[in-house]
Amino acid sequence: MSARIPDIVKHRVSEKAKNTLDIVAKFVEEECIPADPVVDAQIGEGSARWESHPPIIEELKAKAKKLGLWNMFLPKGHYKESPGYTNLEYGLMAEWLGRSKIASEATNCSAPDTGNMEVLAKYGNDAQKAQWLKPLMEGEIRSAFLMTEPDVASSDATNIQLSIKKEGNEYVLNGSKWWSSGAGDPRCKIYIVMGKSDPNNKDPYKQQSVILVPANTKGITIHRMLNVYGYDDAPHGHGHISFHNVRVPVSNLVLGEGRGFEIIQGRLGPGRIHHAMRSIGAAEHALEWMLMRINDPKKTPFGKQLREHGVILEWVAKSRIEIDAARLIVLNAAVKMDDLGPKATLKEIAQAKVLVPQTALTVIDRAVQAFGGAGVSQDTPLANSWALIRTLRLADGPDEVHLQQMGRNENKRGKEVSQKLLWQKEKTEQLLKQNNLKRFQPGSNIKPRL
Ligand SMILES: Cc1cc2nc3c(=O)[nH]c(=O)nc-3n(C[C@H](O)[C@H](O)[C@H](O)COP(=O)(O)OP(=O)(O)OC[C@H]3O[C@@H](n4cnc5c(N)ncnc54)[C@H](O)[C@@H]3O)c2cc1C
Repeated sequence: MSARIPDIVKHRVSEKAKNTLDIVAKFVEEECIPADPVVDAQIGEGSARWESHPPIIEELKAKAKKLGLWNMFLPKGHYKESPGYTNLEYGLMAEWLGRSKIASEATNCSAPDTGNMEVLAKYGNDAQKAQWLKPLMEGEIRSAFLMTEPDVASSDATNIQLSIKKEGNEYVLNGSKWWSSGAGDPRCKIYIVMGKSDPNNKDPYKQQSVILVPANTKGITIHRMLNVYGYDDAPHGHGHISFHNVRVPVSNLVLGEGRGFEIIQGRLGPGRIHHAMRSIGAAEHALEWMLMRINDPKKTPFGKQLREHGVILEWVAKSRIEIDAARLIVLNAAVKMDDLGPKATLKEIAQAKVLVPQTALTVIDRAVQAFGGAGVSQDTPLANSWALIRTLRLADGPDEVHLQQMGRNENKRGKEVSQKLLWQKEKTEQLLKQNNLKRFQPGSNIKPRL
């Protein structure tokens, strides 16, 4: 709710965004969270899980549209299609969306469609926008982003192998992909595929291209859906897909040959902020569940309610501090991105990308612990939430890759700070000498006892 916006950014949030934030919070709390288990029930069992589309999602989408809660993620000033919110303002909304499993989809703000719509809005030509961006923005179809491959270490995208070869007025694609999120959904109509169009280019960052491939193109096979800690995430799913002589017209290429890296880098910045703010929402939701459990009068281990056992309130307090600190890290990244764009904000985005899922996992884990056995079961949303957030330490680049880059950049100051500290040490020696003093050695006045 708008009253809870951290003071440090309050002045940057417009009245329109504050008003929308209040509507988002009410919509999530009163419509989406109660409907989360209904979605699971409507998805059903067996193969039906991959064929059905829960009707309640369409009902929620209609309600969200009526409330003006639609496509809030597209930042103001960058896209003519934007409903007019900054990254900061949408970040605050995304926190609320993160409390529910379906709120993001209900407001057409869910991954991977958000990133894919940004790719099309930013880099697509008019025909590509008309064919794919328009129905995505209307919430009529869904999409998947296919980069990761089973046979190579894909956290280094220069390794990507899927071949994209030009033959006449077509491109021919061969290779395989996995972790293609969203490919299980019967409404997923378009794949945004990254592959190698020029494997011999001397510049390893110019070998890749991004191309649009309709999901029903001949030669595409979905072999299976991957589980996440046993959850299949149906009907969305994470596909393992192969491409065998898949042909698409040359007009399906996005931006131009060799521009793949440019596109994926443009796609990931805002998405990482969205994931981070949704994770803050998931952590807040877990904290609320923990508060409910520790105040449950029916559960009194060793004769006391949980809140009366000293360690438990410490968990609550630590969770409060950690969530509030993590939120500031993300909002700082959002503000900088609004002011200077994603390229200038790489460090802050990486800080949020690494810190927030770890913080959220710690908070969710405390809530799980407070529930005892129920915490790891299907009787609370905690276990599923933990599994979802755990994947964020891998998806969009594993923590280690971001940490290595950040460490390398921080260490660039190594020489300069060493020189400064040595100079300060030398100056201290001079000052001591001038004042006829010796450096104070703690404990030096204690006579040794024999
Ligand atoms: C739930 C989920 C959804 C996903 N959705 C998508 C999607 O929609 N589209 C898509 O293309 N991909 C998706 N991914 C894939 C994800 O982006 C990759 O798994 C991730 O980039 C890592 O690539 P990899 O699995 O090939 O691991 P590898 O590249 O093989 O890396 C394995 C491990 O090596 C370590 N490592 C890597 N680099 C370094 C380093 N520099 N220093 C130290 N250690 C390092 C890390 O611990 C890393 O986890 C998804 C993944 C998950 C789990």
